[in-house]
Amino acid sequence: MGSRRPTDITLGVADILRPRGITFIHDTVNEVQPDALKVCTETSEYEYDYLVISTGPHLSCEEIPGLSPEQGFTHCTFTMEYAVKSKEAWNRLLEEPGPIVLGSTQMASCFGPYYELAFEMDHELRKRKMRHKVPITYLTSEPYVGHMGVGGLGKSKRFMEDEFAELDIKTVTNQSIDEITPDEIRLAGGGTLPFKLAMLAPPFKGVAGVAPLGNPRGFIPADNHYRHPDHANIYTIGVAMALAPPEPTPVPTGVPKTGFMTVRMAKAAAANIAADVQNIPPTYEKELSVVCLMDMGRTAALMVADPVLPPRQKSYLKKALWAKWAKIQFEKYFLWKMRHGYSRLP
Ligand SMILES: Cc1cc2nc3c(=O)[nH]c(=O)nc-3n(C[C@H](O)[C@H](O)[C@H](O)COP(=O)(O)OP(=O)(O)OC[C@H]3O[C@@H](n4cnc5c(N)ncnc54)[C@H](O)[C@@H]3O)c2cc1C
Repeated sequence: MGSRRPTDITLGVADILRPRGITFIHDTVNEVQPDALKVCTETSEYEYDYLVISTGPHLSCEEIPGLSPEQGFTHCTFTMEYAVKSKEAWNRLLEEPGPIVLGSTQMASCFGPYYELAFEMDHELRKRKMRHKVPITYLTSEPYVGHMGVGGLGKSKRFMEDEFAELDIKTVTNQSIDEITPDEIRLAGGGTLPFKLAMLAPPFKGVAGVAPLGNPRGFIPADNHYRHPDHANIYTIGVAMALAPPEPTPVPTGVPKTGFMTVRMAKAAAANIAADVQNIPPTYEKELSVVCLMDMGRTAALMVADPVLPPRQKSYLKKALWAKWAKIQFEKYFLWKMRHGYSRLP
């Protein structure tokens, strides 16, 4: 929405890592050779004793014609460059109001940000007294709103339905997309959704350079200690890791691996590598739980799921103004911690 500039939330990784004796090389991995213990990049080759794959998603826009902030007609906030383009598209919409369609395509694996966008856009338009000029539709591959790729979370289905109904945000669920043209989304099975601004999470895949080590969509399998089942010295964390959905959904969706989860996976993998170096058994097992603070315009919601996939010991969803303040405080704390290179074991 423009409340942060790229420089507010961007850090120079090399300078932060150097005092820890860690060299940062900015290069693209084209291939991993697990038998030769080598990583091949655009410009060089690197030998390794241990490898941690944390390459995140390939945003697979090519799977749906017309879907792309570059060659297509949709926007998304999943890279800094795309987020900046989205802001420009948002500014154009404010000048020439019209319908917004936002949400997630088939095989998308990250739903939270588009719920946040729906609430943020609604809030911003109401502040500007323009909401009546901008119909908003939440379009998703999820079988119902609030599913979020994890089979729902506490009362998330009822909660999102109620919130969207109150804010007059229409929903189209359980839907895959055939094609996107400059001004409409063509839905599988017929029907179209016209738009002035379309913001859609693309399908997720693993990135090409590591995909041969992974499943058919290029996500890397990991055992209980984040190790590749066939290569004990290769670890995987974050979005790159394969994680089976809790249940097959009629339109395929992926399980989100949030930043919160990724940080915990990274700490666990680091501790397990340290144990292996000392010839002791790995200490940390896969225990995936999640805590999220979801922006909702003027307010926010705290969401907790432990474990992340059902059945759960604990799941919790609470809307409150303090959650908004907690999110802002957490942002400041997280950036401060990262700037100073502070870390601790899980
Ligand atoms: C808009 C948005 C909002 C979000 N909000 C939240 C939130 O509130 N809370 C939360 O917990 N999570 C949130 N997330 C999710 C969170 O950002 C991700 O879960 C997290 O970034 C995943 O970390 P990762 O290291 O797996 O992947 P990434 O952060 O995607 O990092 C992967 C890195 O690998 C690099 N890379 C890719 N391919 C190659 C290659 N071939 N060679 C070399 N490098 C390569 C990429 O350039 C990138 O730097 C949000 C995500 C988005 C998009």
